[in-house]
Amino acid sequence: MTDDRSAGIIERYRDHLPVSSTTPVVSLGEGDTPLLLSEGLSERTGARVYLKYEGLNPTGSFKDRGMTLAVSKALEAGAGAVVCASTGNTSASAAAYAARAGLVCAVLVPEGFVALGKLAQALIHGARVVEIEGNFDVALTLTKEIARSGEITLVNSVNPHRIEGQKTAAFEIVEALGGAPYLHLIPVGNAGNITAYWKGYREALEVGWSETTPAMHGFQAEGAAPIVTGKAVAEPNTIATAIRIGNPASWEGANEAVSASNGSISAVSDPEILEAYTMLASEGIFVEPASSASVAGLLKMSDAKRIPAGATVVCILTGHGLKDPERALAMAPDRMKAPAELDPIRDQLGLD
Ligand SMILES: *Cc1c(COP(=O)(O)O)cnc(C)c1O
Repeated sequence: MTDDRSAGIIERYRDHLPVSSTTPVVSLGEGDTPLLLSEGLSERTGARVYLKYEGLNPTGSFKDRGMTLAVSKALEAGAGAVVCASTGNTSASAAAYAARAGLVCAVLVPEGFVALGKLAQALIHGARVVEIEGNFDVALTLTKEIARSGEITLVNSVNPHRIEGQKTAAFEIVEALGGAPYLHLIPVGNAGNITAYWKGYREALEVGWSETTPAMHGFQAEGAAPIVTGKAVAEPNTIATAIRIGNPASWEGANEAVSASNGSISAVSDPEILEAYTMLASEGIFVEPASSASVAGLLKMSDAKRIPAGATVVCILTGHGLKDPERALAMAPDRMKAPAELDPIRDQLGLD
């Protein structure tokens, strides 16, 4: 393990990842994201609530942790290109790491349901982006077909290297807290991330970094909650586009995490997600809507008296708010207008 945190997660956790001394490391300095104590949420729930701010990764989401490894391994294997289906963040991350590695990046996204910031990222990094007339689940099925040829590597989270890289976030939490939290709350879409955290916590236990593992509680959006209902959703629907997924690729992994840890998967509604979104913003923390599903879930569990007093709780904030500027503008109060004169400006500001 290196102490150089800017070196990225592969250098930092090399001994715990499937790399050798000859693996080319494609990194943008991902990982080492802040674990912030939320005073507001701690007060409201009676727990000690920490927020793992994964939006501060290089491309603004946790996807970078898995992508650094997936792209490094693709390069090592001699791939000329990577391909992914995406609700946005996977494509932004794949595009950036592929550009860094000098690989071609191909992306399939559902038309009309990718937040503006994510689309801009994929395009500016030179990815070949195709919008398809179908949702994420359809895009993933098509992408798997495209990847069958061999020289093009699939970098969705069905690629096991994605999960390996993403598990490092659990290592960081355990290191920061001196052990695992009591509860781990996380948004769930394709369920790769909950699978990865659970793997990370179990490995941390095995190597003695923690004496416990947390209960894993995942949250899907009500209109896209296949794991909650036990049935794939043909037309998933939610404003939280990053978790607008009807048939999670890592469904099994989520079930395993939940049953082995005594956790749960439940649904939160779009209004609940947006309430958490604005609450976080009022604490200075800007996330994209999907990210606030973990906090919406916390509030719901708290209302149901399912949060023990004083328990250490970690909520994962998966992506940055700048990803989806249109949602922020729709939720925020309007800007004011005034001529360039002091009195009308003071009037508008209401400061005296
Ligand atoms: C990908 C993503 C999720 C969902 O993660 P899964 O691994 O698909 O469950 C949640 N929030 C954001 C911001 C994401 O980019």
